[in-house]
Order: sequence, then structure tokens, then C-alpha cells
Amino acid sequence: MTNPSPDTPVIRIRNLHKSYGQLEVLKGVDLVAPRGHVVSLIGSSGSGKSTLLRCCNMLEESQDGEIEFEGEAVRWKGTGHNRHPADKAQVMRMRTNLSMVFQQFNLWSHMTILQNVMEAPVTVLRRDPKEVEEKARAYLAKVGIVEKCDAWPAQLSGGQQQRAAIARALCMEPRALLFDEPTSALDPELEQEVVKVIKALADEGRTMILVTHDMRLAADVSDHVIFLHQGRIEEEGPPDRLFGNPQTERLRGFLSATA
Ligand code: ADP
Ligand code: MG
Repeated sequence: MTNPSPDTPVIRIRNLHKSYGQLEVLKGVDLVAPRGHVVSLIGSSGSGKSTLLRCCNMLEESQDGEIEFEGEAVRWKGTGHNRHPADKAQVMRMRTNLSMVFQQFNLWSHMTILQNVMEAPVTVLRRDPKEVEEKARAYLAKVGIVEKCDAWPAQLSGGQQQRAAIARALCMEPRALLFDEPTSALDPELEQEVVKVIKALADEGRTMILVTHDMRLAADVSDHVIFLHQGRIEEEGPPDRLFGNPQTERLRGFLSATA
């Protein structure tokens, strides 16, 4: 991978269109994730937040628009519903550099926590297992669950499982972290332990795209907030303005419904 200049955004998306069959889910969306920034995506259920996040790391294909990873444009072949990535290695590079944390944790139930964290760096990146283990333990310590190394996922609380999933994403040493409603599956008392970890990562200057229903979290950690409505950006801006002085009726309605 070439070394991009620090002001090249990690991800830049222009005019993205995405449909599932006849259903158009993203109708021309732009998104920029500058290095070291946190971009949050908010909006009602079904507005296209998860789809947009999954398009960022090419877990989903899209039918029109441009996606750049560190200044490098995704290469496509074909158009519309026949458009597919032209370069598998490029897609792989994007996926491994844009680690995703899911609402449902998605830990491997047949592996210990340490094995979960080590799995992708060893098998996908082919890193030395000894070095990966050292890093994995350090990331597990960072999220506060190093004592759970040898436990099975089922033996952990939801909050601990999600912190393990964050350690697993960090162990890939990605260029950005993508979070899809990381606290939505958690009981309120466990939510805060995950929020704390996400805030610490933001404070470290990690690049993140965060889909969340937690407006306080979005307000606290974001440099930029995007409000999606039915596959379009209805309003976007710095968190102070979006939450403090929303301009559109739709965002005002959404914020009063989630308050
Ligand atoms: P959000 O994350 O904001 O709740 P999603 O991106 O999950 O929204 O979904 C946006 C729209 O796309 C919804 O109407 C949803 O039903 C639809 N959708 C999402 N995934 C699929 C899929 N795999 N196949 C068909 N429709 C989908
Ligand atoms: Mg979603």
C-alpha cells in the first residue's frame, strides 16, 4: 500500500447509489472520513445507516458512485446492477483495513476470547502468532478484559463480549474502525462500559465511523454527524450544530423522538 499524505481521507464516498433489487436504499450519498476524525451516522431504522457503513468496506456492492480508500479509487467493472469490484485484492485490502464491530458481537463461539482476537491477524494477515498473541493480550488489557483470555464467549456478559469484539477489530491494526450500533444489544448498565472504550479510542485520535442510536455518545465523540433519512443525507454538520440547532423539521422530529 502506498503511504497517503495525512490529509488524504481514509474513506471518501461520492454520490453513492445502492439498491436491493428494486428497492433503492442509498440515493446519492457523500461521506468523508478524514484521518483521526469520528463521523457518526444517525437516523431512523431503515434509513440506510448499516448499508452505508457496509458499503464503506465493500461488504456490500453499490450500483453507482465512487468510493476511495486512502486516496485510491475502487476499481469497478460493469455498470448498475452489473457493477462489481474489478480487483479482489483491493477489496481485501479495504476489508482488512476497515475493521467492523457489529451490534451482535459476532464472536466465534468455538474459540476462546484470545483465539477470537488472534484469528484474523494470523490467518488473514499471516502475522507471526507469537507477536499477534502479545498484541492481542495488550488490546484485551486496553478494553479491560485481559483476565478473560481463556474464557469462551458464552461465559462473558454482553458488554464484555462487545469489548472483546473491539479488541479483535483493533488487533487488525486497521486504518479505521467501523461500528454498527455497538451498544444497541446491551442492557443499559452494560452499555456504559462499551461507551467508555469507544470514547477512549476517539480520544486517541482513531479514525472511526459510528452508527449509533445513542445521541449522547454521538454528541460526545463525533467531529461530524450525518443524519440520514430514507437513503439521503437530510442534514449534516458538527455535533454542536446538529444537536444544538437542527435546521430541518425531520431532524428536529427525530431528535425529540429519541430524547
Ligand atoms: P438502518 O441501518 O438505518 O436501519 P439498513 O441499511 O439496515 O438501515 O436498511 C435500509 C433499507 O434496506 C431497509 O429498507 C432495509 O429493509 C433494506 N435492506 C437492508 N438490507 C437488505 C438486504 N440484504 N436485502 C434487502 N433489503 C435490505
Ligand atoms: Mg442498521
